Amino acid sequence: MKRREFINISALSAAGLIFGCGRAAEAEDDLYALSKSLLKRWCAGMRSLQIKDPKDENFGGIRCPACGFIHGRIGDAIFPFVYLAKISGDFGYADAACALFDWQEKFVSQEDGSWINDVVGHSWKGITVFGATALAEAVKCGDGVLDPADLQRMKARLRKAADFMRANFKFGYGNINYPVSASYAFALAARVLEDESLEERARYFGRGALKYFTPENKFIFGESNPMDIKTPKGAYAVDLGYNVEESLPALVKYARLTGDDEVLEAAERSMLAHLEFMLADGAWDNSWGIRNFKWTYWGSRTSDGCADALAVLADRNPLFYKAALLNTQLLERCTAGNLLCGGLHYRAHGVPACVHHTFAHAKVAAEVLTLGRTAVPDLRGVVLPREREYGVKFFKDIQTALVSVGDYRATVTGYDLDYYNLKNGHASGGALSMLWHKEAGPIIAASLNDYTLVEPENMQAESGNSFAGLTPRIEVDIEGVKYRNISDFGAKMKTSKSGDSVLIETSSNLVDANQDGNWRGKMPSKTSYEFTPGGVSLKFACKVASKSVRPRIIFPIISAEDERVDWVSENLVRIKKGANCSVEVACDKPMRLLPTGASRAFNYVPGFQALPIFVSASESEVKIKVV
Ligand SMILES: [Zn+2]
Repeated sequence: MKRREFINISALSAAGLIFGCGRAAEAEDDLYALSKSLLKRWCAGMRSLQIKDPKDENFGGIRCPACGFIHGRIGDAIFPFVYLAKISGDFGYADAACALFDWQEKFVSQEDGSWINDVVGHSWKGITVFGATALAEAVKCGDGVLDPADLQRMKARLRKAADFMRANFKFGYGNINYPVSASYAFALAARVLEDESLEERARYFGRGALKYFTPENKFIFGESNPMDIKTPKGAYAVDLGYNVEESLPALVKYARLTGDDEVLEAAERSMLAHLEFMLADGAWDNSWGIRNFKWTYWGSRTSDGCADALAVLADRNPLFYKAALLNTQLLERCTAGNLLCGGLHYRAHGVPACVHHTFAHAKVAAEVLTLGRTAVPDLRGVVLPREREYGVKFFKDIQTALVSVGDYRATVTGYDLDYYNLKNGHASGGALSMLWHKEAGPIIAASLNDYTLVEPENMQAESGNSFAGLTPRIEVDIEGVKYRNISDFGAKMKTSKSGDSVLIETSSNLVDANQDGNWRGKMPSKTSYEFTPGGVSLKFACKVASKSVRPRIIFPIISAEDERVDWVSENLVRIKKGANCSVEVACDKPMRLLPTGASRAFNYVPGFQALPIFVSASESEVKIKVV
C-alpha cells in the first residue's frame, strides 16, 4: 500500500475511532490495550524530546533528560515510532522515525555495518544486534507508512548490519545475551531481506543457546566471560534482568518465527524457572543477579522487556499472560511525564528518568501489539510461583533461597560471583536481599554493596548525600575501609523449616571489597532470619578485636517520602503503607537514621527511597511486621 492511500484509510484512526483515546477502563486487565496506551504515551514522551530544528547538528536525536546526552542506541525507537504511525495514522511519527534514522547514520553508524553503543566513550558494537532487530521490525511494518525511498534506505542499512553480524557474532562475542539475541535478529532479517542464508545463522544461535541453561535450575547462564565460569559454591553467571528482558524473549521469538519447537520448549521451561522470581506486583526480584548494577524493580536499565515473549507463550499457559500483564502494569506505575522511570520512587526523589528505559520498552509494547488482540484469558486460579506459600526453596545454581511464609516473601543470597573485575557489586554473604509483603509491598531490597558506575553511559551517577546502600548489613569502617558481612563470598547459609516458619542462619566474616577480612584477626559475623506468618525477626551479631571499632547494623526500610512515619520510641517506628496497613519495625537497640540531608535515602538500584535506619552495636535483633 502506498503511504497516501494509507493516510486516507487512517483518517478514521486519526479521529480516534480505531486507535482510541487514552487508556480505557477495560485496559486494566487487557495486555493489548495497556500496551497500546503505553506505546502512545512513551512515543509522545520521546517525540517531545526530539531535536526538531534542522539547523541543529543533532537534528533527529533525542537528548536524555537524565544523562544530558543522546544515547547512541536511540535509533531503536525507529520501530515503535513507525508502528505507532501505522496504527494511529499520525505520520508525524513516521517523520520522527526518519529523522532519528538520519541521526543514527550520522553519529553512530560504522563503515563495517555496525552501530556503536555511544557517540563518545562506549564503542561496543555488539548492540548492533538490537539495532538490527528494531530496524527489521520497522521495515517489516513500514510499507504504506514510510516513503518507499526511506524504506529502501533502511532496508539497505539492515543488509549491512546483517553482514556485520554474520562476520562477527559467535558464542563468546560479548555476554550470552548477544549471541542468543542474534537468533531472532537473523531469523527476522532473513525474512525482511528475503535471504535464506541468514536462516542458517538464526538456527545456529537458537540451537546453540540450548547449551547455556544451568543444569539444575534451568536459568540462562553466561552473563560474564568466560561464559561458563563456575564458582567455588557451584554457581553460574546468571542475571535475571538480562535473561528475562533480553535473552529469553529473543529465543522465544526466534522459535516462534522459525517453528523451532525444541528451542521453544526449552525457552518455555526456562521462563517458568525465571518466573519463580517474579513478585505478585509484577516486579523482577534481581536482588542477587550478577549484573544487578542495572537492576530496576521492573527489570534492567537497558534491556528491552519481557511482555512480548510472555505474550507469545500465553496460549501455552495463561500464567505467562498474567506475568506479562503484571509487569506491564508495573511499568505503567513507573511511568511519569510519558517516560519510564527506573523504579517506583524516582519521581518522589526528584530523579529524572533515563530515556533508555522508554525506547527499549516501547519496542516491546509495539511487539505485543504486532501479535494481535487476543481474548483476555480467565486468570482466576492462575497464580505466580511466589503467590503460593511454600516455605523455602533453594536455588543451587545461584546460591539463593526464596522464602514464602504467610504474606511475607523474602530472598536470601550467598551468590559468590563478581561481574568481571567489579568488586562489591551484588549482595552476598547471606544477605536478606528482598523482603516483601502482600499488602505492604517491598519492605527491604538490596542495592549494590558499593554503587559503582560499571557502565557510565548506561547508569545514572550518584548525586547528593541522600544516596545510601539499601542492603541490611553489619558494617565496620576501619581507617576508611568498609568491612561487611554482605561482601563475604565464603559465607555459609543454613535453611530449615519448622511448621509454618522458616529459619535461615548464615555465618560469615566481615570482609572488604577484595574478600580480605583480616584486621587483628578475622571478624566473624552471624545472622539469623526467622520468618513466621506473624512477622520476621532479624538477628545480627559480629565480633571485632577492638573496642575502639564500633560496628553498625544498618537496615534501611523502603518508604516513599509521602508515607507517614511515627516514631513511637527510639525502639519502635511505624510506617504507614497506603490506607490499610503499616510496617512496624521494633529493635532492641536505639534506632538512628544515617545522615542523608533529606527525609529519605535513595538508591538507583532498584529505584527506592528508604528510611536509612541503623544501630551502633555489635549485635541486635530487629522485628518487622505488617499490621
Ligand atoms: Zn539516559
